[in-house]
Amino acid sequence: MFSAEIIAIGSELLTPTKTDTNSLWLTGKLNEIGIEVKLKTVVGDDETRLEETIKDALRRSDIVIATGGLGPTEDDITRKVSARAVNRELVFREDVLREVAKRFEQIKREMPEINRRQAFVIEGAEVLPNPNGSAAGMSVETDGKFFIILPGPPRENKPMFENFILPKLRERAGEIFVKRRILRVAGMGESAVDELIAPIYLQYENPQTTILFNRSEIEINLTAQDKSEKQADELLEEVATKIAAALGSGVFAINGETMEEVVGNLLLQTGKTLSLAESCTGGLIAERLTEISGSSGYFIEGVVAYANQAKIRTLNVPAELIEKYGAVSKEVAEAMATGMRERSGTDYAVSITGIAGPNGGTAEKPVGLVFIGLSDGTETKSIKINLPGDRYLIRWRASQAALDFLRRTILKKQN
Ligand code: ATP
Ligand code: MG
Repeated sequence: MFSAEIIAIGSELLTPTKTDTNSLWLTGKLNEIGIEVKLKTVVGDDETRLEETIKDALRRSDIVIATGGLGPTEDDITRKVSARAVNRELVFREDVLREVAKRFEQIKREMPEINRRQAFVIEGAEVLPNPNGSAAGMSVETDGKFFIILPGPPRENKPMFENFILPKLRERAGEIFVKRRILRVAGMGESAVDELIAPIYLQYENPQTTILFNRSEIEINLTAQDKSEKQADELLEEVATKIAAALGSGVFAINGETMEEVVGNLLLQTGKTLSLAESCTGGLIAERLTEISGSSGYFIEGVVAYANQAKIRTLNVPAELIEKYGAVSKEVAEAMATGMRERSGTDYAVSITGIAGPNGGTAEKPVGLVFIGLSDGTETKSIKINLPGDRYLIRWRASQAALDFLRRTILKKQN
């Protein structure tokens, strides 16, 4: 298996305003053909540091890709420093100069003298044409290592990499298929998830497993590499099945689906309809559900009942209930769900009321307190949760918890 590393060159990439996106894109492309990126470096326009970096990189990695600093100005040092790092001369290439000159003809400008510098290439390098700019790229083989130098601007280096480098690397890497699979978990913390599944994924070097926390869910990423697509898929299936079994009902997606897709599919499969009564999420749940094409097959309507009067008038919540327990309470959440279901005639009605903050919290009812109600015609139930985060996160997590509550309810009925 080949190891690759990427060097992003340019002092501007070390400022707070400019991000190295080249390496992200390149990493994606390399991963697709089964080449793993082991290290990335961002180096400023500093000759000594750049030379050290290139030498180190060529010592430890099979493939080194550098981007940036191929322009004609004094601070563009990549050409000469790269030559020095691989112990080769820079040679003037008439044909490369002609290409640079042609580029200036195309944009109807006189070629400045300094652009002659761009016609110098590392001895023995393959020159990579640049239809979108003046800087040619280079590919050098040295001591069995592959050193690729690309211009900085993405619109210049992307086609260059795809047309000239990718086919070569693919050939070298052999036919390897990389397949990914994402499992998603709701209602569990990262450490709890890891505790349950580490004994499984640690047994496998392939697929690779990474766990990350997203807004309101844990994502388990599996990446498998194999000689055929089918074998990679089988490997993913094997590990995904084991992981899903270990996590039980916490897993809501085993193939990258979102919560709204999963809930939508469950409603569709069971032929049930849904309405929503949202307070603190202000329509977020409805927005998420209706983002999915085909949601009209199960989602009937939603109400944003934000003020107390709206809860009373639109959802038939008894005023006394709000007076006695407050708008953020189990009683009101349940009354909202019942009221909504009676009003809409849907199979399920889900309600949500809570304190999104940052203001409005009290000792008894702190910011992040959320009640979710669910009425299914035979009963109305509710859950109480305390969510961490700022207003944005609390609202998002509340919407997720509501959808998850519905998901678990439907699943329980199926069994
Ligand atoms: P040019 O001939 O355009 O000067 P160059 O190879 O010298 O090409 P740089 O001068 O290093 O490239 O960068 C030119 C522009 O390319 C930068 O201003 C930036 O917008 C973009 N760029 C450079 N490196 C990166 C990177 N790692 N990620 C994203 N963009 C980059
Ligand atoms: Mg430049």
